[in-house]
Amino acid sequence: MSDKEKTLTVDNINFQTLAEDAPVTLWLTDVVGKVIFTNNQYKNFIGREKVEKMGGDAWFHALHPDDKDYCLTVFKDAFETFKPFTMEYRLRRRDGEYRNFIDHGEPYIDDLGKFSGFVGSSTDITEQKMSEDQLKKSHDELTQYNEEMNLINQLNSYLQVCRSIDETYPIVSYYSEQIFPDCTGSLYLFNDKKTVVESMAIWGTDPVKSANVIDPDDCWSLRQGKEHTALDNDERLRCKHVEDGVLNYICEPIIAQGEMLGMLHIEFLKIGDDKHHYMESRKRLIKIAADNLALSLVSLKLREALQSQSVRDPMTMLFNRRHMEETLDREILRCARSKQGLGVIMSDIDHFKSFNDQYGHDAGDIVLIEFSKVLIESFRGSDIVCRYGGEEFIIIMPESTADIVIKRAEELCKEISKLELLYDGKPLPQITASFGVAYIDNAVVEKSLLLKAVDLALYEAKDSGRNRVVVSNTDFAKSDE
Ligand code: GH3
Ligand code: MG
Ligand code: MG
Repeated sequence: MSDKEKTLTVDNINFQTLAEDAPVTLWLTDVVGKVIFTNNQYKNFIGREKVEKMGGDAWFHALHPDDKDYCLTVFKDAFETFKPFTMEYRLRRRDGEYRNFIDHGEPYIDDLGKFSGFVGSSTDITEQKMSEDQLKKSHDELTQYNEEMNLINQLNSYLQVCRSIDETYPIVSYYSEQIFPDCTGSLYLFNDKKTVVESMAIWGTDPVKSANVIDPDDCWSLRQGKEHTALDNDERLRCKHVEDGVLNYICEPIIAQGEMLGMLHIEFLKIGDDKHHYMESRKRLIKIAADNLALSLVSLKLREALQSQSVRDPMTMLFNRRHMEETLDREILRCARSKQGLGVIMSDIDHFKSFNDQYGHDAGDIVLIEFSKVLIESFRGSDIVCRYGGEEFIIIMPESTADIVIKRAEELCKEISKLELLYDGKPLPQITASFGVAYIDNAVVEKSLLLKAVDLALYEAKDSGRNRVVVSNTDFAKSDE
């Protein structure tokens, strides 16, 4: 039997050869930490030439610069305590790529029981590390997504209890700032005529570099009815409403039930490392925000329309009689509490029946509409202007003095008589109206009595020749008397 054919037993194994060819990276140091042995795996990794040239220093040389201090500290500690150690670091492969390693070192005790150095193995954990990083990234993204959805839910919860579209603007601004950090943005909504979109709410630390009022033709998202993204300040894709210098932005139309309500515009001041990935996730988030907003806005619009229908006269858009009655009840109480004066003007167009007979009902409608416009322009926003009946109107003036109420009625009377009206391109004759005025000051009065007093004054105005103002002489008792 030749040497080669000898059966392998533990006694006759050449352990150095075995260590050289073992399928793991092995190393051995002497008592002061000098590397005295590395196996083939190790040499192949770092590069045989380098190891031959630099010997034990080749490992330290191949260490990632940011990991050198850390590894030295671990080593130093191990050689002081003679305790096993584990450390992770990055090591440069012969092709220049850094790989992640984990080292396990064990103190090596000689036959006499004396510490002689460390023996260890190094394992390439790059793939494992990458999947860990990926897992962490997915976890971080999921956490962020959950936070964003939580904020969107909070926004929704507030939007659902908003009573008007106006009320939503500060809420949208506040939550958009939380949902889209490092961004500025604006909520645009179409005007009533649907000719332009207007900025209704803005957010972010920097000013929004997009026009306040936009012609829908100047926005690619409004033209297409879908999201538009422009990156890297590329002017070829920039909407006309966006200023030069806005690096990255998204416009997302707000569409509910097929109706375009407006647009969300978001400018990105900072962008994540992986731009493509980041923008895709932002696009998804903006779409969710826009869809939620759309639902809330459309239901608020409906609510406002229904509310308006229930309190307004559809022809003149003035408040209707029911609303006037409710308001008057409230204002009388408020007047008594606040000790402020309350004026009521009742007006009736003169000889309107014969006007209708002569010029037709349609011409009469024009008069009512134009008359109402004069009323709206003549009173403060806090005054309540109502169409009381056919050609009768009532104006409630809270917190006024008697002088102001009478003066306003006199001015109105004059103005109406000067109104130049056209019907079918032809001038209509001048119209006049008569006015009754009643005023209470710190008095608790029955609504019916107040209305009766002002009606009586109007009747007197009619009776004494029309086209005039008569102030009620009813003496309302003061509440503290
Ligand atoms: P006076 O000066 O005494 O107020 O005379 P008058 O003709 O205005 O009085 P009257 O109350 O008899 O007539 C009111 C008219 O208003 C009758 C009706 O044809 C008209 N009218 C009421 N509502 C409307 C409306 O919505 N459109 C039009 N065109 N006319 C209306
Ligand atoms: Mg009348
Ligand atoms: Mg009349």
